[in-house]
Amino acid sequence: MADLPYRIVIGLEVHVQLLTRTKLFCGCSTQFGLPPNSATCPVCIGMPGVLPVMNRRAFDLALRAALALNCQIARFTKWDRKNYYYPDLPKNYQISQYDLPFSYDGWLEIPTPAGSKRIGISRVHLEEDAGKMLHDEQGGGRDSLVDLNRAGTPLLEIVSWPDLASPEEAKAYLEEIRLLLREIGVSDCEMQEGSLRCDANINIHIPQGDGPVIKTPIVEIKNLNSFRAVERAMKYEAQRQYEEALRDANYRLGQVAKATAGWDEVRGRTIVQRRKEEASDYRYFPEPDLVPVVVEDAWLEHARAEMGELPAAQRRRLVEQYGLSPYDAGVLTSQGRALVAYFEDVARRSGDARTACNWITNQVLASLKERKMEIKDFPLHSERLAELIAEQKAIGLNKQMAGEVYNHMLENGCSAKEAIDALGIKPVADTGALVEIVRRALAANPKAVADFKAGKTKAAQAIKGAVMRETKGTARPEVVEQIIVEQIEKTP
Ligand code: ZN
Ligand code: MN
Repeated sequence: MADLPYRIVIGLEVHVQLLTRTKLFCGCSTQFGLPPNSATCPVCIGMPGVLPVMNRRAFDLALRAALALNCQIARFTKWDRKNYYYPDLPKNYQISQYDLPFSYDGWLEIPTPAGSKRIGISRVHLEEDAGKMLHDEQGGGRDSLVDLNRAGTPLLEIVSWPDLASPEEAKAYLEEIRLLLREIGVSDCEMQEGSLRCDANINIHIPQGDGPVIKTPIVEIKNLNSFRAVERAMKYEAQRQYEEALRDANYRLGQVAKATAGWDEVRGRTIVQRRKEEASDYRYFPEPDLVPVVVEDAWLEHARAEMGELPAAQRRRLVEQYGLSPYDAGVLTSQGRALVAYFEDVARRSGDARTACNWITNQVLASLKERKMEIKDFPLHSERLAELIAEQKAIGLNKQMAGEVYNHMLENGCSAKEAIDALGIKPVADTGALVEIVRRALAANPKAVADFKAGKTKAAQAIKGAVMRETKGTARPEVVEQIIVEQIEKTP
């Protein structure tokens, strides 16, 4: 990024669906994928004369999320109507929060290549989702259908300050939000299912030698629906604004209004659509059918207690407590609490955190990926992996053999000892004894040692033969080879 002739300024507005069973102001189900319009009632389809009732569980989850995002919590908060017309919004208004959001002034720490960085969060508020439009693409766009199942689902809107300085940081911020909210059980943050959605505000600052810095008008890019889309759209839009600023004096002078844009995934470009609406366009006013919410200490304490350890704190703890590298701690944490718990159990049982971490970040993660499996369903339990680590040390299994034992355990659901037996590995129980035998064989074969050192690696065969004879074939040849090479290196 360092060689761009401009600085990128990005702020993100993220909407996440909360993991409640029912909607924000009625008892309809929030389950994804139900038949269209089956999870609806007079409240969420906007019939006149009905009254909304707040879902306290949604507010609980919202509080937990806001605390995890280091926000201040307003002790008094209210609801507002945001008025606009769209076919997926039968009431013609959305119940949201305007001037008194329930939380504000927070921050989220994100990992960047240059270390961790704090991204400011200006506010987090609670609101209801709209329905979904299904545009008939096969029919050439002749029909559009409305599904109101999603209408009234609780949404958390998280608005960051424009502290994100690159497309990569924007992506890292979103990934951290997803990890955090999943970990604390607030949202499943599935971008494909729309339970995490992102709008991005972006402009660029172009330094002009001694002159004033040119600041391009902010463009809001709507509905970015994958992490990759966010990164690509930010890259494209920054460069587009730069080129436009070079070409157009009005644009350069900031005489072009703020705009909204869409992202065309296929063509890989943003499409600027219209003047961006201002808050005043929505004619917000307080929702007359809902009472304001007063957050008592006990409620706040309850939400705090349900939060658990947050990913940033967990990364730090893994480094401090187990001596892991920040990179390894990041790999473990990014997979979720269940994998961290698995690691901690293996580390505790085996007494060797570093080896436990190596096994998990290499073989275990690869096996999970291959089997498209989560750690909770992984057949090789933590005590079994700890046992493999113990065996590996006790009998001096080399990397390749340990890998064979691991695969056998995984495929057959057996213990490390059983796998070693089944594979016919008959190691000399005591590696110390084997080392002694090798040393004696080396002392008896000085010529072979000299030849080996001179580059005749085949000379090791003679020594190996002697060792195998002496151990009557109970030593695993690979182990013998390994020890021979180690011991020859040690002989002067
Ligand atoms: Zn309903
Ligand atoms: Mn919103």
